[in-house]
Amino acid sequence: MSRSAHPAGPRHADVLTEGHYAAPPADLNVLDEKVWARTVSRNDDGVVAVGGIEVTRLAEEFGTPAYFLDESDFRARCRAWADAFGRDADVFYAGKAFLSRAVVRWLREEGLNLDVCSGGELTTALGAGMPAERIAFHGNNKTVAEIERAIEAGVGRIVLDSFQEIVRVSHVAQRLGKRQRVQIRVTVGVEAHTHEFIATAHEDQKFGIALAGGEAAEAVRRTLALDGLELIGIHSHIGSQIFDMAGFEVSARRVVQLLAEVRDEHGIELPEIDLGGGLGIAYTSDDDPREPHEIAKALSDIVTRECEAAGLATPRISVEPGRAIVGPTAFTLYEVGTLKHLEGLRTYVSVDGGMSDNIRTALYDAEYSVALVSRRSDAEPMLVRVVGKHCESGDIVVKDAFLPSDLAPGDLIAVPATGAYCRSMASNYNHALRPPVVAVRDGEARVIVRRETEEDLLRLDVG
Ligand SMILES: *Cc1c(COP(=O)(O)O)cnc(C)c1O
Repeated sequence: MSRSAHPAGPRHADVLTEGHYAAPPADLNVLDEKVWARTVSRNDDGVVAVGGIEVTRLAEEFGTPAYFLDESDFRARCRAWADAFGRDADVFYAGKAFLSRAVVRWLREEGLNLDVCSGGELTTALGAGMPAERIAFHGNNKTVAEIERAIEAGVGRIVLDSFQEIVRVSHVAQRLGKRQRVQIRVTVGVEAHTHEFIATAHEDQKFGIALAGGEAAEAVRRTLALDGLELIGIHSHIGSQIFDMAGFEVSARRVVQLLAEVRDEHGIELPEIDLGGGLGIAYTSDDDPREPHEIAKALSDIVTRECEAAGLATPRISVEPGRAIVGPTAFTLYEVGTLKHLEGLRTYVSVDGGMSDNIRTALYDAEYSVALVSRRSDAEPMLVRVVGKHCESGDIVVKDAFLPSDLAPGDLIAVPATGAYCRSMASNYNHALRPPVVAVRDGEARVIVRRETEEDLLRLDVG
């Protein structure tokens, strides 16, 4: 989306035109199970509940805005991924989507591994008891201090992202008298978007080492030549919010080609390939995500076929879903503060949070859904834009959605599918206090990340 300046007022493409918007759903009280966490439902009294607790009670006890995370859904999704991939594959949860100590415990208990990409994420993981060998360390510019801590802790793998890092990790490992298991992250020339992928001859991004031009083959050569490194495989992550398996197909084919080249040149078959994450979820009813078992079958078929064609033994596969596990399990609960009806345009509904608790709409033009959850309403649908309370007109939470036309200040509305990349990307813009994350399960609600306080803000401000 272009960020160029434009005259005040709506852009022409934003003006409501007849037939431009999809028709409102037949009944705004119905919650599409695709976009809501599994235990969310509307009770007979019209109030929405999660894990058996009504949102009105949750708002009273924990305040708004707040993220409510359906713990049993989170655990069920972990198990679905682990079961789908079975014993011949490893599922790494991408911690950057949302990480807390409780989440680490759930992952540990449900048998998942964990991707981290900073010292902070590593500390959280280790502090909550994730065994180091189940941790993968990512990032395109890990500091020497981070590399040291990761190697000292004994992480299962470090994913090498540049030529400098190959040398750096080797150097640190040798200094610590260790041999570190590593993968090399390659860029396969596939850029995956939601519904299409574009194959590019040249890479233009900061991650990984290009397969093109023999760069990745050279990275393998250097990694094998240096002491302190044990090369266990090749890593590729092609993007985010992907629904189409075609991008993974191209990626797997090119990674397998590299494995074949490595065998031909060095006489070794690397035992693992990691196809990254990026599996899409439903933010609105228009999205149709695949189930983990379909994804697992598709990926393992692709890899098996390509390896057979290349005469290679099938390597062990890893995948790294972040959003697909945590995204659908949480919603953000807001209280409506003000409404502005702009004749012929839309109604602006202002809530008590905004871009500080969900930057994705402003950052990626992301789509979300929204529902009135504190009561039932059979009023006519109205087209709304849900906006926050920040000093910025781009402070949009939900760009276009329908809510009942009797919506009023004090109503609670909820935005589903905010489990991933919302709390983890939250900011203190306008000195907003970042909302809590409350885990709900079987009629019990428990704060797993508490709400920030003004003391928290002032603690950093040393005057
Ligand atoms: C972000 C990221 C993921 C997770 O992506 P999702 O879209 O949340 O599934 C996995 N692997 C790597 C290397 C990443 O950078």
